[in-house]
Amino acid sequence: MKKLLLVKYSPEIFLKGLNRSKFEKKLQNNIASVLKGLDYNFILDSGRWFIECKNMEEAVSRVKKVFGVLELCVVSQVEADMEQIGKKAIQEMLESGCKTFKIESKRANKSFPFNSMEVSRKIGAYVLNDVPEVSVDVHKPECIINVEIRENAYIYSKKIKAAGGLPYGMNGSTMLMLSGGIDSPVAGYMMARRGVELNCVYYHSHPYTSERAKEKVKDLARLLKNYTGKINLYVVPFTDIQMNIIDKCPEDELTIIMRRFMMRIACALAEKFQINSVTTGESIGQVASQTMEGLIVSDDVSDRPVFRPLIAMDKIDIMDIAREIGTYDTSILPYEDCCTIFVPKHPKTRPVLEHIIENESVLEIDRLVNEAIKNMEVYKNLM
Ligand code: ATP
Ligand code: MG
Repeated sequence: MKKLLLVKYSPEIFLKGLNRSKFEKKLQNNIASVLKGLDYNFILDSGRWFIECKNMEEAVSRVKKVFGVLELCVVSQVEADMEQIGKKAIQEMLESGCKTFKIESKRANKSFPFNSMEVSRKIGAYVLNDVPEVSVDVHKPECIINVEIRENAYIYSKKIKAAGGLPYGMNGSTMLMLSGGIDSPVAGYMMARRGVELNCVYYHSHPYTSERAKEKVKDLARLLKNYTGKINLYVVPFTDIQMNIIDKCPEDELTIIMRRFMMRIACALAEKFQINSVTTGESIGQVASQTMEGLIVSDDVSDRPVFRPLIAMDKIDIMDIAREIGTYDTSILPYEDCCTIFVPKHPKTRPVLEHIIENESVLEIDRLVNEAIKNMEVYKNLM
């Protein structure tokens, strides 16, 4: 008998038709890269993926975070033999401590003499015979004992929920505007979970925003790296742009004009590094700049799709995800952000594009953008 880790992947991957094997290969590579350094074997049995590893707990905690993995089960592998399967099922039942159960069987190996219905019935009888205090409940069992008959047989009852989504790196790339707040790391996580490769840009307003605020953003990028394996971060100096806006533009339009600069720079960097899209952590109506009109005015300067995966989410639900993915505690550290240091008293919530374009035309837009990019700090493959 061997203990193995059964890796179940997202059913969406099954629907990829001719592309399915590309997705599977990518997922296998991504799993292999998180398991690096552990002594493990990858085992295939009639289409199912198993991992053999002495340090099972560590393997579970790493593979659980790989996008595209839906569920993990620690399974017992025995020979495809009713006696051995029955013994294992009894043990599984005793260890569960449950009073009611049901056997669910799958037979991939059609040369096995019993079909899945018969396997369930016979193994159920073994359990009832040996563990007299339990009973079968097919509708609401406390414990489901799964039996899969392939080349070998596999028995398990516990399922561990994994990250879900699609294999990282299969769905293009995005430039995430990463601030030190709660929302943008969650937005990045959600895109990465759908297989989109993340790159991050942070606008730093030194000396109005401190070195510690920058370190916090680097820490958030590192937390995202737990899920993506690698991450690039671009820290763009933003003070000069903000000073110019404050000097020359109407006070109530500071935020919206600043956001247009953020968007221009994100797009320019995306162009420079061949990144397909831009992502932000905005959510409709959350703050004064996140009105429909505000979003329209900032999108006006973008030359590629802008994704806002949190657009229809409530803050409390975003906070729940931040806790779940481990970014919350870092996000709430109280360092200043460039958006919070120069906030107009009455920001325009219904900006009109033509007015904004006219009012910002006094600025040397291209020079400011190019200058900021020229002076950025680049953390390729942030450690
Ligand atoms: P967050 O919690 O992500 O900071 P927020 O609710 O504070 O978001 P805003 O400050 O209005 O909202 O920012 C909206 C979005 O703009 C952020 O989610 C982020 O994508 C981007 N953004 C804001 N400030 C910065 C910054 N200094 N550097 C990079 N991106 C930023
Ligand atoms: Mg913010």
